[in-house]
Amino acid sequence: MNKNISIIKGDGIGIEVMDAALLILDKMELNLKYNFLEAGKECCKKNGTPIPEETIKKSKKSDAILFGAVTTVEDSPSAIITLRKELKLYANIRPIKSLPNTNSIYNDLNFTIIRENSEGLYSGLETETENGAEAKRIITRSASERISDFAFKYAKNNFFNKVTAVHKANVLKKTDGIFKESFYKIAKNYKDIKTEDYYVDATAMYLITKPKIFEVIVTSNLFGDILSDESAGLVGGLGLAPSANIGENNGLFEPVHGSAPDISGKQIANPTAMILSTVMMLNYINKDKEAKKLENALLKTLKEKKQVTPDLGGTSKTLDMAKEIASHIE
Ligand code: ATP
Repeated sequence: MNKNISIIKGDGIGIEVMDAALLILDKMELNLKYNFLEAGKECCKKNGTPIPEETIKKSKKSDAILFGAVTTVEDSPSAIITLRKELKLYANIRPIKSLPNTNSIYNDLNFTIIRENSEGLYSGLETETENGAEAKRIITRSASERISDFAFKYAKNNFFNKVTAVHKANVLKKTDGIFKESFYKIAKNYKDIKTEDYYVDATAMYLITKPKIFEVIVTSNLFGDILSDESAGLVGGLGLAPSANIGENNGLFEPVHGSAPDISGKQIANPTAMILSTVMMLNYINKDKEAKKLENALLKTLKEKKQVTPDLGGTSKTLDMAKEIASHIE
């Protein structure tokens, strides 16, 4: 049966990198059924909301969602956070893998950050107080055990030998105390996988000084957001970092970068993060062979460095790089 894929381009460079990915997918003739759905700033101008009900409803019904990027609209709910919540996409996978010709400090990194997506400081529970405001940091045993279990399963399925829990339990004694305790409780079910835990501040330093110690990191929402952007910097920047948001019923795949208003409309956005997110989506819908073909075509394009965007030292436009990748699909 044809897989049902929702396509949410969003705005800014979200549109440009999604058009690049679609150009390549069209060449691959995968028999996917697309629903094009709206979200983001332009959608808000048109419909009064950055995330219409129809987008949520149709996304819920699809096998997977490919998401470009959206600009956050002031005083409106975040489109991506709403989708993560509504679709119960509790696990955010952010692979950090060196790619050829990126001018990054390291050329042999391979680890993954698994970020808890449903609670933590991004629960959206902020209230004003007399002298400012306060935000609630929700950590539950059930979500902490669920994300730990996801991280161990991910390690097993992807041939990693160690999972590191990252927290700040020495200061956030109750919330991160529960996170750490839940991690070690679940670890007992995975005796063949090594475990360790670090404080988030030390982890931020080790990511720079000795990133090769990491294999799979599991952490809460805000820490995961910050550490994965830091890690993206280690392998060449945001234009190269993909991500997946996985729930019980479906998955949403998006580049780690946002809509980058500073470069939008110029056709200079690197489509690599979007294409690697598409590779993750193809794996998710069990099109492993096709995922490998797409990844190989991208790697060949990066190795040859004939048609790459300015952030990689080239002069090509986003769509020209996509055409080059498409030409390498075997
Ligand atoms: P948001 O708040 O939605 O995350 P932002 O503009 O603050 O958006 P990003 O969109 O993630 O942050 O981008 C940060 C910077 O990284 C951009 O200003 C841009 O220069 C660079 N950048 C991001 N994505 C790409 C890309 N695909 N190709 C090239 N440069 C990129």
